[in-house]
Amino acid sequence: MLGTTLMPRRGRGQAPAVARGATFDVAVVGAGVFGSWTAYHLQRGGRRVALIDAYGPANARGSSGGQSRVIRMGYGDQEIYTRWSMRSLELWKALLGQAARPTQFQAAGVLWLAREQDSLATKTLETLGRLGVRHERLERHQLAARWPQIDLGPIAWGIHEPDSGFLMAFHVVQTVAQMAVAEGAVYLQEGVRPPSGRGELATLTTHSGRTVSARTFVLACGPWLPKLLPDLLGERIFPTRQEVFYFGVPAGDERFQSPAMPVWVDFAEEIYGIPDFAGRGFKVAPDRHGPPIDPDSLERVPSAETMALVHEFVGRRFPALKNAPIVASEVCQYENTSNGDFLIDRHPELSNVWLVGGGSGHGFKHGPAVGEYVAARIADGKPVEAKFSLATKAKVQKRAVF
Ligand SMILES: Cc1cc2nc3c(=O)[nH]c(=O)nc-3n(C[C@H](O)[C@H](O)[C@H](O)COP(=O)(O)OP(=O)(O)OC[C@H]3O[C@@H](n4cnc5c(N)ncnc54)[C@H](O)[C@@H]3O)c2cc1C
Repeated sequence: MLGTTLMPRRGRGQAPAVARGATFDVAVVGAGVFGSWTAYHLQRGGRRVALIDAYGPANARGSSGGQSRVIRMGYGDQEIYTRWSMRSLELWKALLGQAARPTQFQAAGVLWLAREQDSLATKTLETLGRLGVRHERLERHQLAARWPQIDLGPIAWGIHEPDSGFLMAFHVVQTVAQMAVAEGAVYLQEGVRPPSGRGELATLTTHSGRTVSARTFVLACGPWLPKLLPDLLGERIFPTRQEVFYFGVPAGDERFQSPAMPVWVDFAEEIYGIPDFAGRGFKVAPDRHGPPIDPDSLERVPSAETMALVHEFVGRRFPALKNAPIVASEVCQYENTSNGDFLIDRHPELSNVWLVGGGSGHGFKHGPAVGEYVAARIADGKPVEAKFSLATKAKVQKRAVF
């Protein structure tokens, strides 16, 4: 029986398979959502996998370490992300079912709040229709009738995705990592030093001096990728400070919980939220990129400026929460690529090393599909999609994926 939160730890001096110098088929560095799913798929596919993390799966410094993450199907005309969300939702549900933790996904529905002229929402509507995603277009009066607790202001219409919702973020990643270990992967809690040389990489060395041998390496280090590979990624991945707030709802008020309240996104105001769940509070998070940060040393205390911004927004859009207190907060980081497309590619100088990251504020939901894609490319050796390649990762940010 797996524990609910703790990984079976194989810390310093306790990792026999690694200490004996065994060679793994694949060593995956980083047990965030991308690395954990990659390790899981590889191990299930018959590979012998080591999963390594400096601080632990979905730790509080990692981008996957928050309480909850949205899974929506809508992505404007970026059809590949809609397809990957659809596939990922299937895989999330299957794995959580297998792990007997189905409630770590909540099908609360996702509501897009759109303005009159809203090209992102219009394109989303087209894509959802074309790909057969269950959804409905709702006019303003229908929104007002169904969700009277929302003051619509300039919102003219909306899209409701009833089968989408949210994932209990750090819990689900820990579940995936545990399932990878249950399949036979070896977990090692160690920081890994940057790889060096050219050609084929034989080993990685950890900060404690241990070596890990593998035929293939996957570096899924999220916002640490620029620190691990400064020459290659120092100017291509932009980790930015992001703040998340939880508002305490009035006692007994169910209007801000599912099923009365769905996940909602308001791209025009660059803000979104998740209903109150398990008494943790009504989540509200600005999606605008904050200043650059270092994920190791960032003090994770929210700023007065962002607190004021969310208070103002909540009071305006959800009037019943005007005086609601902030009961919890998180300071996290996005690990943005120039335009928001993921980075999934081989290292240009180390032929058996993969770079996997650039979740760019929307990667979490796609963990299952990313892991499946990486495992498939390692197996079949085919080139990656151009949009995921290192070559398409520019040094200047121009966000295009929302
Ligand atoms: C506030 C916030 C809200 C978000 N909301 C959503 C959302 O609603 N929906 C959505 O789909 N996405 C969302 N995202 C984006 C998503 O959470 C991230 O894109 C995703 O979690 C990135 O996962 P990752 O595995 O690449 O990185 P991480 O989770 O950061 O994992 C990287 C891991 O690598 C380890 N590591 C780093 N360096 C080393 C080393 N040298 N040696 C060993 N281990 C190392 C770290 O300890 C870490 O555990 C959000 C992100 C944030 C910050």
